[in-house]
Amino acid sequence: MRQVLLAIALSFRAGYCLEVATPSQTVHPVPEPSVEIWLTLGRSRYYEGSLRAALEAYEKGVKLDPRSVEAWLNGAVILEETGDLRRALRWYEKAAALKPDAEIFNAAGWAHLRLADLAGATTAFHRAVELRSDHGFALLGLGRTALDSGNPEQALAWLDRAAAAAPNLNLIPYYQGKAHEALKNDDRAIESFRRSVVMDSYFSEGRDLLAKAYLRSRNYREAWDQWSKALDAEPKSRRLRSLLYKVQALLRHAPEQMKRRPPPPPVPLETESAPGQVPVLRVGVGTDPLGKIRARSSASFKVNTDFELVDPKTGKAWLAGQAHEAWHVSVKRAKKKRFLAFMSPAGRPPLEKPGPVSIRPKEPGRSVIWIDESSPAAMAVRGELEIAMHRGHLRLVNSLDLENYTHGVVSREMPIDSPLEALKAQAVLARTYALHLKKHRQTHRKDGYEVCDQQHCQVYAGVRAESPRSRQVVDDTRGRVVTYQGRVASTIYTANCGGHTQSGKEVWGHVPYWIGRSDAPEGRREILDPWELKQWLRAWPKSYCGPSAHVYPSHYRWTRSVSFKDIEEEMARKLKIGRLKSIRPLKRSQAGNVLSLLVQGDRRSVKVVSEIKIRGLLGLGSLRSTLFVMETELGKDGKPQAFMFYGGGWGHGLGLCQSGAMGRAESGQEHDRIIRDYFPGVEISQLSY
Ligand SMILES: [Zn+2]
Ligand SMILES: [Zn+2]
Repeated sequence: MRQVLLAIALSFRAGYCLEVATPSQTVHPVPEPSVEIWLTLGRSRYYEGSLRAALEAYEKGVKLDPRSVEAWLNGAVILEETGDLRRALRWYEKAAALKPDAEIFNAAGWAHLRLADLAGATTAFHRAVELRSDHGFALLGLGRTALDSGNPEQALAWLDRAAAAAPNLNLIPYYQGKAHEALKNDDRAIESFRRSVVMDSYFSEGRDLLAKAYLRSRNYREAWDQWSKALDAEPKSRRLRSLLYKVQALLRHAPEQMKRRPPPPPVPLETESAPGQVPVLRVGVGTDPLGKIRARSSASFKVNTDFELVDPKTGKAWLAGQAHEAWHVSVKRAKKKRFLAFMSPAGRPPLEKPGPVSIRPKEPGRSVIWIDESSPAAMAVRGELEIAMHRGHLRLVNSLDLENYTHGVVSREMPIDSPLEALKAQAVLARTYALHLKKHRQTHRKDGYEVCDQQHCQVYAGVRAESPRSRQVVDDTRGRVVTYQGRVASTIYTANCGGHTQSGKEVWGHVPYWIGRSDAPEGRREILDPWELKQWLRAWPKSYCGPSAHVYPSHYRWTRSVSFKDIEEEMARKLKIGRLKSIRPLKRSQAGNVLSLLVQGDRRSVKVVSEIKIRGLLGLGSLRSTLFVMETELGKDGKPQAFMFYGGGWGHGLGLCQSGAMGRAESGQEHDRIIRDYFPGVEISQLSY
């Protein structure tokens, strides 16, 4: 139906006549164009990223039917996104006059606030609160206007009410912190900023202000800790780095001493080695966040049983080692040649080899190899460990069977206290995805392994990830994988889809079972109007992946307020655009995720299309997802000051939604049904071993 309407709308635009009656035919009246046509056209132009054409459609809509609230509201959103805030306000006022509604007054309030028109904002927010006394965003807006008018005490009164109405909104404690700051009460400010980052660990803006408050209270240790966390999220920020150096100089102890101690060694569970023809995986361990070999030239290891150092190609044993001996391996150089030197503790002559060497334990069923036991990055693995040189660095590859590998993944990809059927779905997906990478993708062929141990493929933590519950989950689904037309499927997953998953063809390419779908028990209208999308992201619609005992609220809905300066610094560094003028989301997927972003600077404009880049560009650290709407706030001088984001979900939004799997398991669904719901058309198959 929508397609038909669209075709009609398009023919109107092109000036074609719909029906031409000939004298011999019965004359059908030409249907009156309705406002629906323009709403449909406006929506599709908005998702295509043609904001000007979308606005034209809504302009035609309000001309045709000046009583269409939808046309006024959707037009207002487009006007806001194109930076014409004054006109957006007039459109909101038209809509509010037709339908006095708290959401509309709230939207108008924020538009006034973004124009630094505090009196207008106050009036609009009051109207919203009169209609709905627990409107969290309108109460937050009143707090902000009071704060911007230099009245922090009144701001706190509003913000307290806001916090009671919207307990999961991290911007509220953030502004409470700012109000306490204005009142010179750093203890209370610290408390509030801390709450804002506890609510959402991605909220680096809150962390930054928290560190500053610690610095003012001379708590250098905490200031250092918070800034180093912020810098972990945004490693190249010059501003954060210089702050960290500044506070480092004030510390009595060197920061190295404050680094976290290594975790205690894991206690391996007694397990059977998987019998039969279980596929063996080559897993790159200790890799960097992109799954590449980390620059390192030495490592230590220990095995809990006797072992041999063997030639991985021939299986020939070169040297025998004993249980619990501490060994060391490093890249050495002599006569312009590099080689590996394995040193045992007993002072025996070292084993020196130019090629790869494997550590092969004598009792595969119960053996564990510890790597770098005394470092914070310590790891313990089952199976064998191959050590080789790769461009002058050490490359560590753990070869182990698919079942034990899955065991090392499950609890790292989903909290182990999640509902059992969700964990089983996770185990089937982890096993399937690894096998898919091994058989069909070979992403890491040049690195010399089949999967890495990072999020890039999926997080593998070896024995440390194991527990009796994870063993139960893996054993209960032993050999179970997802297939599509007989082929091992590419079972990607996302932490939280935000309420609607994305289709592969809109993002990374068509895969028949990567189909975007609503994650709500009652479904969602497939494509939301611009106004509906904004409301949907500002609310907490019922969904399988919504907040629960297992799902943290900020994984489902999040807000950010990023300073213009921070984003400008990042854009200048990454995109070389000169001074930042504006940022505008263009194309969106049907779910609502931003697929392309236009960044305009005074030197050039850049269109950003990669999901990871879009998330990484906007703000200190990255955004949780590309599912967001954004607003630009102007200062009194009319220049941009900050960007506000209303977002949903965490991760790329494709495939299985992990939070959704938990919600479905809670509502009684079993793991195979959960998997089939997220990947329409797949089958659950059994590997024969
Ligand atoms: Zn990888
Ligand atoms: Zn979901």
